[in-house]
Amino acid sequence: METKAYFPGPTRVRENVRQARSLETMNPDMDPQFYEMYSKLGKDIGRIIGTENQVFILSGEGILGLEAACASLTEPGDRVLVLDNGIFGEGFADFVTIYGGTPEVLKFDRLREIDTSVLQEFLDKDHDFKYATLVHCDTPSGVLNPVDEICPLLKKYGILSVVDAVASSGGEPVDVDKNRIDICLGASQKSFSAPVGLTFASVSEAAFRSMEARKAPIASYYMNLLSFKDSIANQWFPYSMPSSDILGLRQAVDNILEEGIGELQKRHRNIAGAVRNAFRDYGLKLHLNSGYSNTVTVVEMPEGIDTVELLLRLKNERGLLLSGSIGYLKNKVVRMGHMGENANTEELIFVLEAMDSVLEGMGYIRTSNLKDLFLKYLG
Ligand SMILES: *Cc1c(COP(=O)(O)O)cnc(C)c1O
Repeated sequence: METKAYFPGPTRVRENVRQARSLETMNPDMDPQFYEMYSKLGKDIGRIIGTENQVFILSGEGILGLEAACASLTEPGDRVLVLDNGIFGEGFADFVTIYGGTPEVLKFDRLREIDTSVLQEFLDKDHDFKYATLVHCDTPSGVLNPVDEICPLLKKYGILSVVDAVASSGGEPVDVDKNRIDICLGASQKSFSAPVGLTFASVSEAAFRSMEARKAPIASYYMNLLSFKDSIANQWFPYSMPSSDILGLRQAVDNILEEGIGELQKRHRNIAGAVRNAFRDYGLKLHLNSGYSNTVTVVEMPEGIDTVELLLRLKNERGLLLSGSIGYLKNKVVRMGHMGENANTEELIFVLEAMDSVLEGMGYIRTSNLKDLFLKYLG
């Protein structure tokens, strides 16, 4: 059977994006048109995430951006505040450690968004940190953290912020400038719906000043964000840029701008709201108590339904590859990534019908079907 994957990234890639990747290649080192295209693409991504800061597109999957931010800011001995209410959140501590920093991990309830008042209390007592890391949408649990409260609060204490917005940007407003985010990271394969392979990073003047003031040199060549600072103005990149990947992302961003940023976010809100309400009425429990991201929904299975068996039957009986989760949530929940191209009614109907029929086959007694509930809430 042909299988369809419905993951919280990588998402489906539209044909015009695939076509754009096969256009005549450009010489990214020599061709002034390439620099123009790169610069404009950075500005357009900036519009989507709400910033006038420079946005750099780096050759590598999303993790590259997270590590590049930590590599560029961390000096040996630096104290770094790691806000942790999920798997990607806690993961930042490793990057800080690798570059010689000392992570201070502040743990929060993993079933809801970060409680800013708890953070405020902590910072009142201890705020001697060069920067703090946090995740906007922590994808394994689907929690969306209030960057609009957290990042301005960090600024009040003079702490730079590094935000992983890989799973949120595009589908959720990030508002980098309004929220005063110093380094904001995204990737090509989530709501932007281009293939895996590119990271983007917006970097504030304050973040660059901090890098320039370092005593110890940045302990990486490839992940040195400072080396990108004047790259567009000087028409010189530290290494050759992957022009075909970037042409693909260019088209994916054009697709977003054509739909409209507000419309894109509205589509995510509508789809996600209807999915959550449908599951509630159907009798399944949403994994989180609050702080739901509109890019991914995570549900728990009822008593007597084994998640591993459900996922296997979805694949074998319906050709649907759904994702369990990772880390402490592995085999405990089922995730639906309705982001980017995957956030549409037709795809959701396929997914929900498949879940419905397999759950019924596994003995789940339901009062109505998931698809009808979804369509009812979609309005
Ligand atoms: C997808 C994702 C990344 C990129 O990492 P991969 O695990 O390699 O896909 C980073 N952060 C978040 C929150 C993500 O969802």
